[in-house]
Amino acid sequence: MFHGKEKLQRKSALERDSELSTYGLLLACTILALLICAMIAVLTADQGEPTTNLTTEATDISVEEYGNPSLITSNEDPLRAYIRFPQAGGFADSVIMSWANKTYADAEETIKVLRETDGSAQGEINIQSQSYTLGKKYASIVEQGMFSSTGLAHPTDVIRTFNLDVEHNVFLENSDILDMSKKENILSIIKSKILASAPDAGDYFADAAIDEWLNHLALDREGITVILERGVCLPAYLGSLRIELPYDELGDMLLLDKGAMTAASSHTTEPLQQTEPADAAATNIPSKASDIDPSKPMIALTFDDGPSKYTSRILDLLAQHKGRATFCVLGNLVESRPDIVKRAISLGNEVIGHSWDHRDLTKLTPEEIEEEILGTYNAIKSLGGTAKKMYRPPYGAVDDTLKEASAELGFSIIYWSLDTIDWKAESSADVYNAVMNDAEDKAIILCHDIYSETADAMESVIVELIDKGYQLVTVSELLENSGKSLEAGEVYFDGR
Ligand code: ZN
Repeated sequence: MFHGKEKLQRKSALERDSELSTYGLLLACTILALLICAMIAVLTADQGEPTTNLTTEATDISVEEYGNPSLITSNEDPLRAYIRFPQAGGFADSVIMSWANKTYADAEETIKVLRETDGSAQGEINIQSQSYTLGKKYASIVEQGMFSSTGLAHPTDVIRTFNLDVEHNVFLENSDILDMSKKENILSIIKSKILASAPDAGDYFADAAIDEWLNHLALDREGITVILERGVCLPAYLGSLRIELPYDELGDMLLLDKGAMTAASSHTTEPLQQTEPADAAATNIPSKASDIDPSKPMIALTFDDGPSKYTSRILDLLAQHKGRATFCVLGNLVESRPDIVKRAISLGNEVIGHSWDHRDLTKLTPEEIEEEILGTYNAIKSLGGTAKKMYRPPYGAVDDTLKEASAELGFSIIYWSLDTIDWKAESSADVYNAVMNDAEDKAIILCHDIYSETADAMESVIVELIDKGYQLVTVSELLENSGKSLEAGEVYFDGR
């Protein structure tokens, strides 16, 4: 399984290689350097954190997801976008949403400027989100990702963290979290942790922008996470580092109320029913594949971008009505929500990859494509998933290079025949209508298990599809029962 830090470090090594080989034009570089500076200035004016390293072992700190995920997405050139951020119905929503909108608008503007010189310029803004409520007092949100575009030698990091006191409805500053009169002590702890994970970093401490080290702090269940931005806090080749300062080691440098973190939240939204009795599940699960009648109509529902807090509800509904579906998950979310994935698998559903972090795979090097596809595949497999080598490409972006890379890796590409466009839905009725108006035999239907509208719609969609005589099967089952064999590098739209 990947860990975020290793992945980020490895990526930066790959980026170095590509820098050597691409875009040497002096004029272009000058213009681009200015643009990059503008992007960095705008996008990193705040704080942030990376993707993983968060264990899911139980501790005494009560942790649950903060809010519901929202997305800004665009599947179209010249700017593909995937910006994920939480909305909790609280005081912080508008600030977080403004940040997300501005991040998108800035990327859009940069592409617009680039296209004045190069009419074919394209880019991608891709931001993942992780958020936690710690007890009933604190919440922490980490937005991390990158902006890339044609002409840039490597992507620009985008990092932002928000730390909240949800009891008093205020944002926390660093000085609310740590005793800044003891800053030197804090920095020396960080130094020793950096050296533990990157021994040669010490050579650069004298030159490093140590004042930037505390730019991006986040709270998680183990301690305070310090995110050191690639090329800002330390030399770029070290990548982004994530340093964990365990609460217990901070002593009186920690100003947070640790007691409040261990108290259970008043508004529990954690959806997991991890303790689903095995035999209860067993009575609901149709015995795999043998229950399928190939002569009768069937449909493969697919859910992208999870796992999320809505996934469990969809799993409940499927189990209750003896249906199955295919979940196309993001590797970085699998790491932080392994229980949901395990449960999906144990109920007979299929779990396949949707890349590690929703990058546009057509813009990546073969090595990066391999990391995205195999990293996610291995994460799923380690949780007991089937070894079916297939994945769904983010944004539905596929080109010949990606097909070739997939063929080499032995993976098939799963597309869809019916897009519910649920990310635009204003109500569950929109999602319901999108499915029910166009459902047909052997369709692969694209939904996202990250929206309440989608989960709500499934209440009636699942029942009514079954009433209409459809068998709800996984993508693998659909293809198998349609006489289609999986070929590496091929794209599958449906079972027809
Ligand atoms: Zn997606």
